[in-house]
Amino acid sequence: MNTKAYGAHAGDKPLEPIDIQRREPGAHDVQIEIAYCGVCHSDLHTVRSEWGGTKFPCVPGHEIVGHVTAVGADVTGFKVGDTVGVGCLVGSCQHCSACDGGLEQYCENGFVGTYNGPAADAPGHTLGGYSQRIVVDDKFVLKIRHPEAQLAAVAPLLCAGITTYSPLRHWNAGPGKKVGIVGIGGLGHMGVKLAHAMGAHTVAFTTSEGKRQDALDLGADEVVISRNPDEMQKHAGSFDFILNTVAASHDLDAFTKLLKRDGTMCLVGVPEHPHPSPNIGQLIFGRRSIAGSLIGGIAETQEMLDFCAERGIVSDIEMIPIQQIDAAYDRMQKSDVKYRFVIDNASLTA
Ligand code: NAP
Ligand code: ZN
Repeated sequence: MNTKAYGAHAGDKPLEPIDIQRREPGAHDVQIEIAYCGVCHSDLHTVRSEWGGTKFPCVPGHEIVGHVTAVGADVTGFKVGDTVGVGCLVGSCQHCSACDGGLEQYCENGFVGTYNGPAADAPGHTLGGYSQRIVVDDKFVLKIRHPEAQLAAVAPLLCAGITTYSPLRHWNAGPGKKVGIVGIGGLGHMGVKLAHAMGAHTVAFTTSEGKRQDALDLGADEVVISRNPDEMQKHAGSFDFILNTVAASHDLDAFTKLLKRDGTMCLVGVPEHPHPSPNIGQLIFGRRSIAGSLIGGIAETQEMLDFCAERGIVSDIEMIPIQQIDAAYDRMQKSDVKYRFVIDNASLTA
């Protein structure tokens, strides 16, 4: 089916209107008319070829919300008209130990990303949510239980929400724990909201003086300007867990020294250039860990969506028409977004 989209033909080219084809729904497929799509920093890294390996044409977008317009004969969990979401995953092998454990993002045979992943459909790789509609295997479709009026602000939960929720849960953020969130962008602002909602003492680390009051409003108990060594020093050796969402290469030692004995800093940012090698003495003397985490599985993504729906948690967004996507990327690059751009997909056909 012919579908309007926005994509790029090369890493140094702007995004432009492009017509793509979506398959007719197969027996297990759900066809979704996309209402809104969040703009993740991973979209920018990929479309501008910062990580290498980008397949062109590239249509990014993995924070998708919309409505079901058709379902395949064997689909029982969804019907036409349902409000649904699609995140970063649209496929996995379904038979390795990771998939069996509900951890499709760690599929041992390689998960299929919502964009830039391998696909049988033309053009041979998946094309994401900067498009009118998408057709997805029902196992990778999520139910949205928030009120319809909040739909645009729900979109970023599909990546920014789950990427922060999953490590916060894995490392047991909750009452009695001191948790730091580094980088108050799309992921970080959700990290602050979620750590606060889980009951942890939440400290926001930002390089932007202008985000100090916002971070408190998002739910942080304290805010630290990470460029200020005196402010940092006050927290030395005090954190159970730090979630680092920064999208650029930076000095990790400034944060590992804030961990308690046995504390962990989990990295989720994937910068274009590597971080300077961390000081291992700081890890050894204190049995501290640096870890990583990738989005979250489908069952946990549904759990996160329901957790947020029950508590009225959504993302703080700035809505844009698709025609402003390159300007939005430039602002995101400068840490100038409060706190997630979301595309109004109606603008694709306006
Ligand atoms: P974002 O909205 O651009 O936020 C990143 C934040 O990092 C900025 O707002 C800024 O916060 C801080 N920052 C930027 N440059 C910095 C620098 N040079 N030094 C220190 N802090 C800096 O990006 P995002 O969408 O949240 O994504 C963050 C990263 O996570 C990206 O690399 C993305 O690809 C990655 N990601 C990973 C996963 C995963 O599964 N692991 C999933 C999604 C995204 P302040 O202004 O507060 O300092
Ligand atoms: Zn993302």
